[in-house]
Amino acid sequence: MAFLLSCDDPDERSRIEGKAFAVRRQHTGRQIWFRGLVEISNICRKNCNYCGIRRDNRSVSRYELDAGTVMRAVRAAYNLELGSVVLQAGERQDEAFLDFIENLLHSIHREFGDDFGITLSLGEQSPDTYRRWRKAGAHRYLLRIESSNPELYRKLHPADHDFTVRRRCLEVLRDLDYQVGTGFLIGVPGQSLEDMVGDLLFLRNLDIDMIGMGPYLPHEETPLALDLEDFDKSRQLDLGLRMIAAARLQLRDVNLAATTALEALAADGRERALLAGANVVMPNFTPPETQLDYRLYEFAARGTCSGEQAVAGLRRGIESIGCECGIGARGDAPHYLRRKGKSPAATKSFEIGS
Ligand code: SAH
Ligand code: SF4
Repeated sequence: MAFLLSCDDPDERSRIEGKAFAVRRQHTGRQIWFRGLVEISNICRKNCNYCGIRRDNRSVSRYELDAGTVMRAVRAAYNLELGSVVLQAGERQDEAFLDFIENLLHSIHREFGDDFGITLSLGEQSPDTYRRWRKAGAHRYLLRIESSNPELYRKLHPADHDFTVRRRCLEVLRDLDYQVGTGFLIGVPGQSLEDMVGDLLFLRNLDIDMIGMGPYLPHEETPLALDLEDFDKSRQLDLGLRMIAAARLQLRDVNLAATTALEALAADGRERALLAGANVVMPNFTPPETQLDYRLYEFAARGTCSGEQAVAGLRRGIESIGCECGIGARGDAPHYLRRKGKSPAATKSFEIGS
Protein backbone atom coordinates (compact mmCIF):
# COMPACT_ATOMS: atom_id res chain seq x y z
CA MET A 1 0.00 0.00 0.00
CA ALA A 2 2.88 2.35 0.74
CA PHE A 3 4.10 1.67 -2.80
CA LEU A 4 0.69 2.47 -4.32
CA LEU A 5 0.57 5.72 -2.39
CA SER A 6 4.11 6.91 -3.03
CA CYS A 7 5.01 5.66 -6.49
CA ASP A 8 6.25 8.56 -8.68
CA ASP A 9 6.94 6.79 -11.94
CA PRO A 10 4.38 8.21 -14.45
CA ASP A 11 3.93 4.91 -16.32
CA GLU A 12 3.49 2.98 -13.10
CA ARG A 13 1.02 5.64 -11.86
CA SER A 14 -1.18 5.36 -14.91
CA ARG A 15 -1.01 1.57 -14.67
CA ILE A 16 -2.21 1.74 -11.03
CA GLU A 17 -5.09 4.09 -11.89
CA GLY A 18 -6.03 2.03 -14.96
CA LYS A 19 -6.14 -1.11 -12.85
CA ALA A 20 -8.26 0.65 -10.19
CA PHE A 21 -10.68 1.75 -12.93
CA ALA A 22 -10.94 -1.83 -14.23
CA VAL A 23 -11.46 -3.22 -10.72
CA ARG A 24 -14.24 -0.67 -10.18
CA ARG A 25 -15.98 -1.76 -13.41
CA GLN A 26 -15.66 -5.42 -12.50
CA HIS A 27 -16.88 -5.11 -8.90
CA THR A 28 -19.40 -2.26 -8.91
CA GLY A 29 -20.61 -2.32 -12.52
CA ARG A 30 -20.61 0.14 -15.38
CA GLN A 31 -22.62 2.90 -13.76
CA ILE A 32 -21.53 5.96 -11.83
CA TRP A 33 -24.20 6.48 -9.17
CA PHE A 34 -25.72 9.89 -8.43
CA ARG A 35 -26.77 11.07 -4.95
CA GLY A 36 -28.54 14.40 -4.53
CA LEU A 37 -26.81 16.25 -1.67
CA VAL A 38 -28.93 18.45 0.61
CA GLU A 39 -27.03 20.49 3.21
CA ILE A 40 -29.87 20.97 5.63
CA SER A 41 -28.14 23.13 8.24
CA ASN A 42 -24.75 24.67 9.07
CA ILE A 43 -25.45 24.87 12.81
CA CYS A 44 -22.89 22.73 14.64
CA ARG A 45 -22.08 21.97 18.27
CA LYS A 46 -18.58 20.80 17.36
CA ASN A 47 -15.41 22.75 16.84
CA CYS A 48 -13.22 20.66 14.53
CA ASN A 49 -9.95 22.53 13.96
CA TYR A 50 -10.17 22.28 10.16
CA CYS A 51 -13.81 23.05 9.45
CA GLY A 52 -15.19 26.39 8.26
CA ILE A 53 -18.58 25.97 9.95
CA ARG A 54 -17.12 25.04 13.36
CA ARG A 55 -19.03 26.40 16.33
CA ASP A 56 -16.59 29.22 17.10
CA ASN A 57 -16.57 30.73 13.64
CA ARG A 58 -18.69 33.80 14.34
CA SER A 59 -18.58 35.05 10.77
CA VAL A 60 -20.82 32.24 9.53
CA SER A 61 -24.43 33.14 8.97
CA ARG A 62 -26.23 30.12 10.42
CA TYR A 63 -29.24 28.57 8.68
CA GLU A 64 -31.58 25.66 9.00
CA LEU A 65 -33.78 24.61 6.08
CA ASP A 66 -37.41 23.95 6.92
CA ALA A 67 -39.00 20.59 6.10
CA GLY A 68 -40.84 21.94 3.05
CA THR A 69 -37.60 23.26 1.53
CA VAL A 70 -35.77 19.97 2.14
CA MET A 71 -38.67 18.04 0.59
CA ARG A 72 -38.61 20.28 -2.50
CA ALA A 73 -34.88 19.60 -2.92
CA VAL A 74 -35.39 15.84 -2.51
CA ARG A 75 -38.29 15.92 -4.99
CA ALA A 76 -36.11 17.76 -7.51
CA ALA A 77 -33.50 14.99 -7.23
CA TYR A 78 -36.17 12.28 -7.55
CA ASN A 79 -37.72 13.93 -10.60
CA LEU A 80 -34.33 13.84 -12.31
CA GLU A 81 -34.36 10.07 -11.64
CA LEU A 82 -31.63 10.16 -9.01
CA GLY A 83 -31.98 7.01 -6.92
CA SER A 84 -30.71 8.46 -3.63
CA VAL A 85 -30.20 11.57 -1.54
CA VAL A 86 -27.64 12.46 1.12
CA LEU A 87 -28.83 14.64 3.99
CA GLN A 88 -25.87 16.40 5.59
CA ALA A 89 -25.55 18.98 8.38
CA GLY A 90 -23.45 20.19 11.26
CA GLU A 91 -23.75 18.01 14.34
CA ARG A 92 -26.66 18.53 16.73
CA GLN A 93 -28.05 16.25 19.40
CA ASP A 94 -30.95 18.31 20.76
CA GLU A 95 -34.34 16.63 20.76
CA ALA A 96 -35.88 19.17 18.35
CA PHE A 97 -33.26 18.30 15.72
CA LEU A 98 -33.53 14.54 16.27
CA ASP A 99 -37.32 14.77 15.82
CA PHE A 100 -36.96 17.02 12.78
CA ILE A 101 -34.75 14.42 11.06
CA GLU A 102 -37.00 11.55 12.08
CA ASN A 103 -40.07 13.27 10.65
CA LEU A 104 -38.21 14.17 7.49
CA LEU A 105 -37.20 10.54 7.01
CA HIS A 106 -40.82 9.44 7.41
CA SER A 107 -41.94 12.03 4.85
CA ILE A 108 -39.28 11.04 2.29
CA HIS A 109 -40.00 7.38 2.79
CA ARG A 110 -43.75 7.91 2.51
CA GLU A 111 -43.51 9.95 -0.69
CA PHE A 112 -40.75 8.08 -2.56
CA GLY A 113 -40.79 4.54 -1.15
CA ASP A 114 -38.08 2.21 0.05
CA ASP A 115 -36.42 1.89 -3.35
CA PHE A 116 -35.27 5.50 -3.03
CA GLY A 117 -32.03 5.55 -1.00
CA ILE A 118 -31.47 7.86 1.97
CA THR A 119 -27.97 8.50 3.33
CA LEU A 120 -27.42 10.52 6.48
CA SER A 121 -24.27 12.46 7.33
CA LEU A 122 -25.15 14.06 10.65
CA GLY A 123 -22.18 13.28 12.86
CA GLU A 124 -21.97 11.41 16.15
CA GLN A 125 -25.24 10.37 17.74
CA SER A 126 -26.35 7.95 20.45
CA PRO A 127 -27.17 4.33 19.48
CA ASP A 128 -30.79 5.11 20.24
CA THR A 129 -30.85 8.00 17.76
CA TYR A 130 -29.19 5.94 15.03
CA ARG A 131 -31.81 3.23 15.69
CA ARG A 132 -34.70 5.73 15.46
CA TRP A 133 -33.42 7.13 12.17
CA ARG A 134 -32.81 3.68 10.69
CA LYS A 135 -36.37 2.69 11.61
CA ALA A 136 -37.70 5.89 10.08
CA GLY A 137 -36.20 4.98 6.69
CA ALA A 138 -32.47 5.85 6.51
CA HIS A 139 -30.41 3.24 4.65
CA ARG A 140 -26.86 4.52 4.85
CA TYR A 141 -24.69 6.63 7.13
CA LEU A 142 -21.49 8.53 6.38
CA LEU A 143 -19.24 9.34 9.32
CA ARG A 144 -15.63 10.06 8.52
CA ILE A 145 -13.08 8.97 11.06
CA GLU A 146 -10.94 11.83 9.59
CA SER A 147 -7.70 10.09 10.66
CA SER A 148 -7.24 6.49 11.80
CA ASN A 149 -4.25 7.58 13.89
CA PRO A 150 -5.65 8.52 17.33
CA GLU A 151 -2.71 10.86 17.94
CA LEU A 152 -3.31 12.82 14.73
CA TYR A 153 -7.06 12.73 15.38
CA ARG A 154 -6.37 14.41 18.74
CA LYS A 155 -4.37 17.18 17.06
CA LEU A 156 -7.14 17.84 14.55
CA HIS A 157 -9.83 18.24 17.18
CA PRO A 158 -10.35 20.07 20.47
CA ALA A 159 -10.08 18.13 23.74
CA ASP A 160 -13.79 17.26 23.93
CA HIS A 161 -13.59 15.06 20.79
CA ASP A 162 -12.83 11.41 21.29
CA PHE A 163 -11.48 9.01 18.67
CA THR A 164 -12.85 5.92 20.42
CA VAL A 165 -16.37 7.38 20.57
CA ARG A 166 -16.26 8.07 16.84
CA ARG A 167 -15.01 4.60 16.00
CA ARG A 168 -17.67 3.11 18.26
CA CYS A 169 -20.34 5.03 16.32
CA LEU A 170 -19.22 3.24 13.14
CA GLU A 171 -19.53 -0.13 14.86
CA VAL A 172 -23.00 0.71 16.18
CA LEU A 173 -24.14 1.82 12.72
CA ARG A 174 -23.02 -1.50 11.29
CA ASP A 175 -24.85 -3.43 14.02
CA LEU A 176 -28.00 -1.46 13.19
CA ASP A 177 -27.81 -2.64 9.58
CA TYR A 178 -26.85 0.65 7.95
CA GLN A 179 -24.62 0.65 4.92
CA VAL A 180 -21.66 2.26 6.63
CA GLY A 181 -19.37 4.84 5.08
CA THR A 182 -16.29 6.53 6.42
CA GLY A 183 -13.24 8.39 5.16
CA PHE A 184 -10.37 10.73 5.93
CA LEU A 185 -8.93 14.15 5.41
CA ILE A 186 -6.24 13.42 2.86
CA GLY A 187 -3.02 15.42 3.08
CA VAL A 188 -3.96 17.12 6.33
CA PRO A 189 -1.01 18.81 8.14
CA GLY A 190 0.89 16.31 10.30
CA GLN A 191 -0.14 13.25 8.27
CA SER A 192 2.56 10.76 7.24
CA LEU A 193 2.62 8.05 4.59
CA GLU A 194 2.27 5.49 7.40
CA ASP A 195 -0.88 7.28 8.56
CA MET A 196 -2.36 6.96 5.08
CA VAL A 197 -1.54 3.27 4.96
CA GLY A 198 -3.14 2.99 8.40
CA ASP A 199 -6.24 4.72 6.98
CA LEU A 200 -6.55 2.09 4.26
CA LEU A 201 -6.14 -0.69 6.82
CA PHE A 202 -8.81 0.92 8.98
CA LEU A 203 -11.31 0.67 6.11
CA ARG A 204 -10.51 -2.98 5.70
CA ASN A 205 -10.59 -3.82 9.41
CA LEU A 206 -13.99 -2.20 9.87
CA ASP A 207 -15.30 -3.93 6.73
CA ILE A 208 -16.63 -0.60 5.45
CA ASP A 209 -19.27 -0.46 2.66
CA MET A 210 -18.75 3.09 1.39
CA ILE A 211 -15.90 5.58 1.28
CA GLY A 212 -16.25 9.35 1.27
CA MET A 213 -12.84 10.95 1.53
CA GLY A 214 -11.28 14.05 0.07
CA PRO A 215 -8.22 16.23 0.18
CA TYR A 216 -7.90 18.62 3.09
CA LEU A 217 -8.47 22.24 2.05
CA PRO A 218 -7.76 25.12 4.42
CA HIS A 219 -10.35 27.59 5.65
CA GLU A 220 -8.85 30.83 6.88
CA GLU A 221 -11.10 31.13 9.91
CA THR A 222 -9.94 27.86 11.48
CA PRO A 223 -7.04 27.10 13.84
CA LEU A 224 -5.52 24.54 11.46
CA ALA A 225 -5.22 26.96 8.54
CA LEU A 226 -3.24 29.39 10.69
CA ASP A 227 -0.32 26.93 10.79
CA LEU A 228 -0.27 26.51 7.07
CA GLU A 229 2.55 28.45 5.36
CA ASP A 230 1.58 27.67 1.83
CA PHE A 231 -0.91 25.35 0.25
CA ASP A 232 -0.09 23.19 -2.74
CA LYS A 233 -3.28 22.47 -4.68
CA SER A 234 -1.73 20.06 -7.16
CA ARG A 235 -0.09 18.03 -4.38
CA GLN A 236 -3.45 17.71 -2.60
CA LEU A 237 -5.23 16.61 -5.76
CA ASP A 238 -2.47 14.13 -6.50
CA LEU A 239 -2.66 12.66 -2.99
CA GLY A 240 -6.44 12.41 -3.26
CA LEU A 241 -6.21 10.46 -6.51
CA ARG A 242 -3.55 8.15 -5.10
CA MET A 243 -5.74 7.36 -2.09
CA ILE A 244 -8.78 6.68 -4.31
CA ALA A 245 -6.86 4.27 -6.54
CA ALA A 246 -5.26 2.49 -3.57
CA ALA A 247 -8.60 2.22 -1.73
CA ARG A 248 -10.32 0.76 -4.81
CA LEU A 249 -7.55 -1.80 -5.29
CA GLN A 250 -7.75 -2.80 -1.62
CA LEU A 251 -11.49 -2.68 -1.00
CA ARG A 252 -12.79 -3.58 -4.48
CA ASP A 253 -16.60 -3.75 -4.11
CA VAL A 254 -17.29 -0.65 -1.99
CA ASN A 255 -19.02 2.52 -3.19
CA LEU A 256 -16.41 5.27 -3.39
CA ALA A 257 -17.33 8.93 -3.88
CA ALA A 258 -15.59 11.48 -6.07
CA THR A 259 -16.04 14.28 -3.52
CA THR A 260 -16.53 18.01 -4.09
CA ALA A 261 -13.16 18.80 -2.47
CA LEU A 262 -11.54 17.29 -5.58
CA GLU A 263 -13.57 19.54 -7.84
CA ALA A 264 -12.46 22.52 -5.76
CA LEU A 265 -8.84 21.70 -6.65
CA ALA A 266 -9.28 21.23 -10.40
CA ALA A 267 -12.16 21.67 -12.82
CA ASP A 268 -11.79 18.06 -13.94
CA GLY A 269 -11.01 16.75 -10.41
CA ARG A 270 -14.12 14.59 -10.19
CA GLU A 271 -13.67 13.03 -13.63
CA ARG A 272 -10.06 12.21 -12.73
CA ALA A 273 -11.28 10.58 -9.53
CA LEU A 274 -13.74 8.47 -11.55
CA LEU A 275 -10.91 7.40 -13.83
CA ALA A 276 -8.92 6.39 -10.72
CA GLY A 277 -11.63 4.13 -9.25
CA ALA A 278 -14.45 6.27 -7.75
CA ASN A 279 -18.06 5.34 -8.69
CA VAL A 280 -20.32 7.85 -6.92
CA VAL A 281 -20.99 11.57 -7.47
CA MET A 282 -23.03 13.92 -5.29
CA PRO A 283 -24.57 16.87 -7.18
CA ASN A 284 -25.65 19.61 -4.80
CA PHE A 285 -29.42 20.13 -4.40
CA THR A 286 -29.14 22.61 -1.52
CA PRO A 287 -31.05 25.78 -2.54
CA PRO A 288 -28.50 28.01 -4.33
CA GLU A 289 -29.16 30.92 -1.92
CA THR A 290 -27.86 28.94 1.08
CA GLN A 291 -25.01 27.03 -0.60
CA LEU A 292 -22.45 29.76 0.13
CA ASP A 293 -23.17 29.56 3.87
CA TYR A 294 -22.09 25.91 3.93
CA ARG A 295 -18.41 26.61 3.38
CA LEU A 296 -16.31 23.90 4.99
CA TYR A 297 -13.14 25.09 3.23
CA GLU A 298 -11.69 27.72 0.90
CA PHE A 299 -11.57 27.09 -2.83
CA ALA A 300 -15.16 25.85 -2.71
CA ALA A 301 -17.09 27.12 -5.72
CA ARG A 302 -17.71 30.86 -5.42
CA GLY A 303 -20.76 30.61 -7.61
CA THR A 304 -23.77 28.42 -7.09
CA CYS A 305 -25.96 26.37 -9.36
CA SER A 306 -29.20 24.42 -9.16
CA GLY A 307 -29.33 20.66 -8.72
CA GLU A 308 -30.47 20.35 -12.30
CA GLN A 309 -27.44 22.28 -13.58
CA ALA A 310 -25.12 20.24 -11.35
CA VAL A 311 -26.54 16.99 -12.70
CA ALA A 312 -26.23 18.20 -16.30
CA GLY A 313 -22.57 19.15 -15.75
CA LEU A 314 -21.78 15.80 -14.16
CA ARG A 315 -23.56 13.90 -16.92
CA ARG A 316 -21.42 15.69 -19.51
CA GLY A 317 -18.25 14.94 -17.55
CA ILE A 318 -19.14 11.28 -17.03
CA GLU A 319 -20.04 10.75 -20.66
CA SER A 320 -16.86 12.55 -21.79
CA ILE A 321 -14.76 9.87 -20.10
CA GLY A 322 -16.83 7.05 -21.58
CA CYS A 323 -18.68 6.08 -18.39
CA GLU A 324 -22.39 5.45 -17.87
CA CYS A 325 -24.67 7.53 -15.61
CA GLY A 326 -26.37 5.41 -12.94
CA ILE A 327 -29.91 6.67 -12.46
CA GLY A 328 -33.30 5.22 -11.54
CA ALA A 329 -31.92 2.85 -8.88
CA ARG A 330 -30.51 3.12 -5.37
CA GLY A 331 -27.05 1.98 -6.36
CA ASP A 332 -26.31 0.19 -3.08
CA ALA A 333 -22.74 -0.80 -2.32
CA PRO A 334 -22.16 -4.34 -3.66
CA HIS A 335 -20.02 -4.92 -0.58
CA TYR A 336 -23.02 -4.38 1.68
CA LEU A 337 -25.29 -6.57 -0.44
CA ARG A 338 -22.74 -9.38 -0.41
CA ARG A 339 -22.19 -9.25 3.33
CA LYS A 340 -25.97 -9.45 3.74
CA GLY A 341 -26.09 -12.48 1.45
CA LYS A 342 -27.95 -10.61 -1.32
CA SER A 343 -26.93 -10.59 -4.94
CA PRO A 344 -25.81 -7.12 -6.12
CA ALA A 345 -28.29 -7.52 -9.00
CA ALA A 346 -31.05 -7.47 -6.34
CA THR A 347 -30.84 -3.66 -6.08
CA LYS A 348 -34.24 -2.49 -7.29
CA SER A 349 -35.03 0.32 -9.65
CA PHE A 350 -38.04 2.60 -9.48
CA GLU A 351 -40.26 4.32 -11.97
CA ILE A 352 -40.95 8.01 -11.59
CA GLY A 353 -44.46 8.42 -10.24
CA SER A 354 -44.82 4.80 -9.17
N1 SAH B 1 -20.98 17.37 10.73
C1 SAH B 1 -20.92 16.12 10.04
C2 SAH B 1 -21.13 16.24 8.55
C3 SAH B 1 -20.69 17.51 7.89
S1 SAH B 1 -18.95 17.74 7.78
C4 SAH B 1 -19.61 15.43 10.32
O1 SAH B 1 -18.65 16.08 10.72
O2 SAH B 1 -19.57 14.21 10.15
C5 SAH B 1 -18.55 16.56 6.52
C6 SAH B 1 -17.08 16.39 6.26
O3 SAH B 1 -16.49 17.56 5.75
C7 SAH B 1 -16.22 16.10 7.49
O4 SAH B 1 -16.28 14.74 7.83
C8 SAH B 1 -14.84 16.53 7.04
O5 SAH B 1 -14.04 15.42 6.65
C9 SAH B 1 -15.10 17.42 5.82
N2 SAH B 1 -14.39 18.70 6.00
C10 SAH B 1 -14.59 19.61 6.97
N3 SAH B 1 -13.67 20.61 6.85
C11 SAH B 1 -12.89 20.29 5.80
C12 SAH B 1 -11.75 20.90 5.18
N4 SAH B 1 -11.25 22.03 5.67
N5 SAH B 1 -11.19 20.30 4.11
C13 SAH B 1 -11.71 19.15 3.62
N6 SAH B 1 -12.77 18.51 4.16
C14 SAH B 1 -13.35 19.07 5.24
FE1 SF4 C 1 -19.22 20.31 12.71
FE2 SF4 C 1 -18.79 18.32 10.95
FE3 SF4 C 1 -17.54 20.71 10.70
FE4 SF4 C 1 -16.84 19.09 12.70
S1 SF4 C 1 -16.62 18.68 10.48
S2 SF4 C 1 -17.21 21.30 12.88
S3 SF4 C 1 -18.80 18.17 13.21
S4 SF4 C 1 -19.73 20.31 10.52
